[in-house]
Amino acid sequence: MKVWVLTLFPEMVEAALGTSMLKRARDKRLVEAKATYIRDFAEGRHLVTDDYPFGGGQGLVMKPEPIFRAVHSVLGDRAGRLEPGGPTRVVLMCPQGEVFTQQKAWELSRCEELVFVCGHYEGVDERVRTLCTDELSIGDYVLTGGELPALVVVDAVARLIPGVLAEGSPLDDSFAHGILEGPQYTRPREFQGLEVPLLLLSGHHEQVRRWRRKEALRRTVARRPELLRPEVLTPEDRELLAELAQEAGGRPGGPDGR
Ligand code: SAM
Repeated sequence: MKVWVLTLFPEMVEAALGTSMLKRARDKRLVEAKATYIRDFAEGRHLVTDDYPFGGGQGLVMKPEPIFRAVHSVLGDRAGRLEPGGPTRVVLMCPQGEVFTQQKAWELSRCEELVFVCGHYEGVDERVRTLCTDELSIGDYVLTGGELPALVVVDAVARLIPGVLAEGSPLDDSFAHGILEGPQYTRPREFQGLEVPLLLLSGHHEQVRRWRRKEALRRTVARRPELLRPEVLTPEDRELLAELAQEAGGRPGGPDGR
């Protein structure tokens, strides 16, 4: 997958792209990712990338021309002519966009080329939207720039690309099966009086699998009950939920659900 992050702060983006899982993904050549400096595409002596909003108002707005040139530099004459849902996406990071989810991360992980446009100041000139196939928000709060949101998306997407994760599987993570992951333990068996559940030490793989699923359901009931939509529940899940309800005297989740 090829990834470009168009930004006024390339050093911020490069720092994250050169660390941890993203660095390994780049080293293994599974992801080719780079920061593209929007100011390199500005014109004039002062290389201006922002200006006052027409009609007045607070703050500055990012000018369209440098962003258009930057996107064209990456995609050539495909810029502005991409099919929505296709293998190449231009994603505007924006608090008004579709809220980013694990499902969207899976969708983007199947793409070949991702171009992220990071806004700053009051955001980007409205005409930049004509270049974009997607607009993504990472949540209902406002950050100073699109760099951190773009990096959140790049991280979530890259780790789903086959071969990127050195160990563990994204298929066991929270949201992979529509619900939260359950509790996890490692050595020591006892720590400050807190013991690892005995069943996990038993070597009964089937019982451990069922316990994990039940605990994942318990946690989801307690923390994010809205995730338990009928379409994500298997017949076994329904059985386990009934057990949880019984244990809690009709209140699934119970006091230790968290
Ligand atoms: N004036 C804009 C508004 O009210 O919608 C907010 C602009 S914000 C200060 C500057 C930039 O940060 C945005 O253009 C966007 O790229 C990025 N940004 C801020 N919050 C974000 C979020 N929750 N998700 C994605 N991008 C965000």
